[in-house]
Amino acid sequence: MAAEIRLFPCLSDNYGYLVHDPASKATASIDAPEAAPILEALEREGWTLTDILVTHHHHDHVGGIAELRQKTKCRVVAPHDKSGKIPDVDLRVRQGDVVKVGSLLARVLETPGHTLDHISYVFDDEKALFAADTLFSIGCGRVFEGNYPMMWDSLLKLRVLPDDFRLYCGHEYTAANVKFALTVEPDNAALKARADEVARLRAAGKPTIPTLLGEEKKANVFLRADEPSVAAALRLKGASPAEVFGELRERKNKS
Ligand code: ZN
Ligand code: FE
Repeated sequence: MAAEIRLFPCLSDNYGYLVHDPASKATASIDAPEAAPILEALEREGWTLTDILVTHHHHDHVGGIAELRQKTKCRVVAPHDKSGKIPDVDLRVRQGDVVKVGSLLARVLETPGHTLDHISYVFDDEKALFAADTLFSIGCGRVFEGNYPMMWDSLLKLRVLPDDFRLYCGHEYTAANVKFALTVEPDNAALKARADEVARLRAAGKPTIPTLLGEEKKANVFLRADEPSVAAALRLKGASPAEVFGELRERKNKS
């Protein structure tokens, strides 16, 4: 039986995600922005929370952990990180570890840059990538704790996943990301198509997530920092991809 994935808004622009295994009835929440909407979604579906898979220590991803763990006795899985910034952790994971959610398997990729502890979860059989604040649709996270080469390496780790994998990211930032990306690649046909789609979805009050990784590879300028045309658009011909990526990130920060 295939896994079921539900997405719902949390806080101002976060997404909550539930991944449910019909075979074992296990259910994982990817991060826990706040408890109430996650408890409501569980109630709506008639599912019981067994696991929280945490991506990084920012408050808008861990704020609901304590209440959810207390109310459901679920297991909390979090990045291996000595700082202890994430409360109530039962299992710490690192690159290459595989987490079981019932009979579902989630592979851990370390994707530092936004924070040093940031990890992403890949459900290979479900063709689903949960990248939180590393990779957004047509964008990427701000680089708060790492540096640009580190974040670029993390994006490359995600970019090698197959085109038919779906990206589930931490925030609904797509419209603003599209606006910025068009300033760099106004003639990118895949980006223009995505811009139309995003405008249509947002006008209808619908999420722009999930999105296909294959589409992101064509339309997300942050995944295209090693395209000569992107370097040229930034007047950085001959610069390294990490430098091009850094310039993109700086411009986005100021946009
Ligand atoms: Zn964050
Ligand atoms: Fe966030």
